[in-house]
Amino acid sequence: MARTADVVIVGGGVIGAACAYFLSREGVRVHLVERQYFSSGASRASHGGLALIHSTAVELRLAARSLQLWSEIAAEARVVTEYEVPGQVTLTDTPDELPLIEHQVAMLRAEGIQCDPLDAQQIRELEPCLAPDVPGGSYIPSEAMVQSIYAAAAMADGARRRGAVLETGSAVERIEQGSGGRIARVITSQGAIDTPNVVLAGGVWTPALAAPLGVRVPVIPRKGHVIITEILPERIYRHKLQEVGYHKTLESSFENTVVDHRQFGVAFASEQKMAGNILIGTCREFVGFDMSTQATIGAAVAKRAARFVPALANVRVLRIWTGLRPHTPDHLPILGPVPGVEGLYLATGHEGLGTTMAPITGLLISQSILGQPPALPLEPLSLTRFDAAPLPDHFQEALAASV
Ligand SMILES: Cc1cc2nc3c(=O)[nH]c(=O)nc-3n(C[C@H](O)[C@H](O)[C@H](O)COP(=O)(O)OP(=O)(O)OC[C@H]3O[C@@H](n4cnc5c(N)ncnc54)[C@H](O)[C@@H]3O)c2cc1C
Repeated sequence: MARTADVVIVGGGVIGAACAYFLSREGVRVHLVERQYFSSGASRASHGGLALIHSTAVELRLAARSLQLWSEIAAEARVVTEYEVPGQVTLTDTPDELPLIEHQVAMLRAEGIQCDPLDAQQIRELEPCLAPDVPGGSYIPSEAMVQSIYAAAAMADGARRRGAVLETGSAVERIEQGSGGRIARVITSQGAIDTPNVVLAGGVWTPALAAPLGVRVPVIPRKGHVIITEILPERIYRHKLQEVGYHKTLESSFENTVVDHRQFGVAFASEQKMAGNILIGTCREFVGFDMSTQATIGAAVAKRAARFVPALANVRVLRIWTGLRPHTPDHLPILGPVPGVEGLYLATGHEGLGTTMAPITGLLISQSILGQPPALPLEPLSLTRFDAAPLPDHFQEALAASV
């Protein structure tokens, strides 16, 4: 007998899981297909930081709404999420970065989010572990975190309890269109599923899934390394820590050749997890689908961490891993319907904010499919925003290698 679903979701990362969760909450018959296992892609690599990144107001509003949704999801989850709200201390490296803190404080406060500037003394009162020459920073009490692998699992479990079919170890081989070009069927390695709607949540593999339908999705891989330390019996720090210079590494420069710690786009971001391990990142590279771990980069990330928290120089590293963030030219995700292919939706391109933005993504996709008013405007997130200007040459080259 033919299998049927109202919506097929392709990809079992945190984004696909969130789409399944919010759609099944509305009573939609969801069938999620994942070729490996939940969180086998970028979602496995995430720090799990739920961050109020504020490069633009659009990004900040998505993140802020998503953090509200995260607290609801964590409250109803029946599996462990390690959801915590430790707050974030943002750090400066040198006094000339203090204006960036002023900008951050103004931007978050304009959105009604508490963010307090800290001078050199106040920042060390809050986090005594910090190096004595950290000139100041800020405190954002509402920043939160989860264990990223559990995050997708919790939402997938919520979807399963509401009747969603979760098919892992099954690869989507092609998507077929019916009369008028409407989505009609998904062919997987486990058989066909008849459906009028497909959500592509395939992370950096989304361009390859969309290309046979004649749809160009401007997403390319942006690699990151993460270090996890041994379990420490004591808490070295209580808050999430992130240097304000992290924002500079988000810029789309394809030149990873800047001297000192900026080489490989290294910036300090770290959390001590419930078990006592510390996660330390981060870096950004455009190296295609290369997932190898590089000792040089691990060393640069560790050195940068010890600049802010000297005690980290004496902590042993348990493991280093890498992941491929789905990067778009303007750092915003691509969410919503694809014009010209009725029934096709995109939920991808979250780069370093997918764990943070998964709930708002799931909600917006659900509202879009059901024709409900969106919780936030979809226009700045539409695929068509890239029609106006050609993609830079280097982006086009990287994209050509992705499909
Ligand atoms: C080092 C690093 C640190 C990060 N830290 C944070 C952080 O602290 N906070 C934060 O918010 N974000 C963070 N991120 C970003 C976050 O991890 C990503 O934005 C997010 O995981 C993207 O999720 P996704 O579901 O879109 O993609 P993925 O997790 O990559 O999922 C895509 C899935 O699609 C599946 N798939 C692909 N093709 C097919 C097919 N043909 N058939 C079936 N399935 C298919 C893949 O197997 C994969 O499981 C980090 C990322 C990295 C790399």
